[in-house]
Amino acid sequence: MRLRGNKRRTTDDRAEVRGTSGLAVELRGVRRQYGRGSDAVHALAGVDLALPRGTFTAVMGPSGSGKSTFLQCAAGLDRPSAGSVRLGGTEITGMRENQLTELRRSRLGFVFQAFNLLPSLTVEQNVLLPMRLAGQRRDRRRAAEVLAQVGLADKAGRRPGELSGGQQQRVAIARALVADPDVIFADEPTGALDTNTATEVLGLLRHAVDVLDATVVMVTHDPAAAAWADRVLFLADGVFVGGLDGGSAERIAARMAALSSRTGVMAGAAA
Ligand code: ADP
Repeated sequence: MRLRGNKRRTTDDRAEVRGTSGLAVELRGVRRQYGRGSDAVHALAGVDLALPRGTFTAVMGPSGSGKSTFLQCAAGLDRPSAGSVRLGGTEITGMRENQLTELRRSRLGFVFQAFNLLPSLTVEQNVLLPMRLAGQRRDRRRAAEVLAQVGLADKAGRRPGELSGGQQQRVAIARALVADPDVIFADEPTGALDTNTATEVLGLLRHAVDVLDATVVMVTHDPAAAAWADRVLFLADGVFVGGLDGGSAERIAARMAALSSRTGVMAGAAA
């Protein structure tokens, strides 16, 4: 993904280094249960998923279907009750907390609804923060490169508070790209943005996949946002119940409406 002339690592190189089969994310039989006995909530009830590198996947589902839990488990922020998660070919299940933290900093990128930038740091310092926390050399050329890729080459010295919401999310995308991660996890990345700005941010994520060879997994409730993905996966009651490849916002919205009414009926029947 990192465009650095002949230093650019290819997918094949990475597969060789990490002994992988080209899958960025792999979940097998993942379950996440909250509570026990008759009060137990099965937030994830057996999730299997294999996402190749260089793909853009959206995850949708009605409220309470397990989207947040999925993202947390897939990104090593929460531990499944059962099953296995592999990121970039590395099994993370059973990793110690410090290993997980190091993996998140060096091999994953995150884009959140609320941008999550540190207000006291400059744009450049925010972009370099994951590398700094991972104890890596401060690579200002790399920061300039990713800031240019998101169209903010001239904002390196600014503070987040001096930027618009869309620009702040671009900084967050640059920060997610900086370490050349195996996967970028995006949690409602356009939830706080107006339609035009949202379109720019989604275009950037699309560009990251198409041109920079990134892999993006995005949770969203917005069919227009999901339509930017190669594939939309639908969650209901903690399991994936279907997918849509290259669907328009209208088709995605129709599938969501059907799913919500179905789970609504089921919830009603169970109540
Ligand atoms: P979504 O993101 O799709 O709205 P969540 O992953 O947040 O869904 O939640 C899935 C289910 O797990 C819901 O029934 C929710 O109430 C439950 N849940 C999530 N987090 C917890 C928790 N910390 N304790 C108990 N139940 C939880």
